[in-house]
Amino acid sequence: MAKAPVLTPRADDFPRWYQDLIAKAELADNGPVRGSMVIRPYGYGLWERMQAEMDARIKETGTQNAYFPLLIPQSYLTREADHVEGFAPELAVVTHGGGKELEEPAVVRPTSEMIVNDYFSKWVQSYRDLPLLINQWANVVRWELRPRLFLRTSEFLWQEGHTAHATYEDARDFAARIHREVYEDFMVNVLAMDVVPGRKTAKERFAGAVNTLTLEGMMGDGKALQMATSHELGQNFAKAFNTTYLSRDGRQELVWQTSWGSTTRMIGALVMMHGDDSGLRVPPRLAQIQAVVLAVKDDETVLAKVRELGDRLRAAGIRVRVDDRTDVPFGRRAVDWELKGVPVRIEIGPRDLANGTATLVRRIPGGKQPMAIDALAAALPGILDEDQALLLRQSRERRESRTSEVSTFTEAVEVAVGGGWARIPWAALGEAGETALAEHGVTVRCLVAEDGSVPDDGDAPGNVAIVARAY
Ligand code: AMP
Repeated sequence: MAKAPVLTPRADDFPRWYQDLIAKAELADNGPVRGSMVIRPYGYGLWERMQAEMDARIKETGTQNAYFPLLIPQSYLTREADHVEGFAPELAVVTHGGGKELEEPAVVRPTSEMIVNDYFSKWVQSYRDLPLLINQWANVVRWELRPRLFLRTSEFLWQEGHTAHATYEDARDFAARIHREVYEDFMVNVLAMDVVPGRKTAKERFAGAVNTLTLEGMMGDGKALQMATSHELGQNFAKAFNTTYLSRDGRQELVWQTSWGSTTRMIGALVMMHGDDSGLRVPPRLAQIQAVVLAVKDDETVLAKVRELGDRLRAAGIRVRVDDRTDVPFGRRAVDWELKGVPVRIEIGPRDLANGTATLVRRIPGGKQPMAIDALAAALPGILDEDQALLLRQSRERRESRTSEVSTFTEAVEVAVGGGWARIPWAALGEAGETALAEHGVTVRCLVAEDGSVPDDGDAPGNVAIVARAY
């Protein structure tokens, strides 16, 4: 009799597979309040690695970290009309504190443009104070109606960048720099994810922004996911908060601003982009455990060898975990590491030891082979690099094979509903076409220029719209 699969197969029920994987790989649990989430240590470890890689890239741009309060006076929200309208339906509001009704209710931040700008208006005096480049790592709350673990939770963890600049060009260039040098670089080179950088249409823009840049990824079922966004805010918030500076020639000018965010949603993307029917596959550059060394049996020489090899691999710069829990059946431990997607497993039993070999099991391409124990430390870095490259290639090939060039609205809907991405000239779709897509559960994910770059002008001739179903 065939063994029952560990997870619901993706082809049978993709959303079920996703939920199964998150539970069995011990990434997260649903929280007690609808839409909330408990992130378990293995899931949080992925987030910590994401934070470390992102934080280094953010600081490379000259941005500094700071922290602003969780609670925002409700009155702030009325300052920027579009922003308020966009966020009003998702707000959680605190009306009581210390057993008394508050004089002014406080909103739990859904994002921090308002409170940040209140302080920017105090901190910025002259052109010498610009650019002001701030990031914060925090949690935010948006009362989501259709929550899904990691992808859309009502409380999520993120980084949010907020900057103020002297000129429109500076702000525009900074938003673009974050988009490419922080987000795209991190996603491609660390997460091994194929992503499409593009520009949102006016309809899909962030509430209060004049331009939103996005990175869209194709998940294993062909649907799109918005992976991170970088906004040009123009002077909308500067006007609302009167954030002005004294220019070189002595005039009071409004600042130009950006904001940009990426969240724990990226963990969901990791699952949906690289996961397979046996579990997660973590790209080696992200993995908090790149290789696990397993003792197959409770045997003193085996245990000693396993620990010694762990030390040697660690000294070679590999992130290693030694699994010497011989009181748990070996098969169970092997399945567990498979589910957690650790790139390389090195299994050592008494028989292997006699030959001076170990069994090397590769999670990403699949397959096992014997290898001399003494050769492992030198071989692993190359193997991990190959696996990193393979994941990126597989995600790119999937997107390319499921993307079609079309010229009409009907064809675009057909492709998207069928689980692919359609590329259609923006001029052939237009805003009316975009609105009509909604009826089919389909959206314009982004606009790209003819040569694949991000268009400076959303309506430039030659712009192509990418149409898909999305999470
Ligand atoms: P925004 O501030 O609306 O531009 O959001 C920044 C990024 O957060 C988006 O690009 C999404 O990738 C992500 N995001 C938005 N809402 C959620 C949510 N409810 N849960 C997790 N991530 C989210």
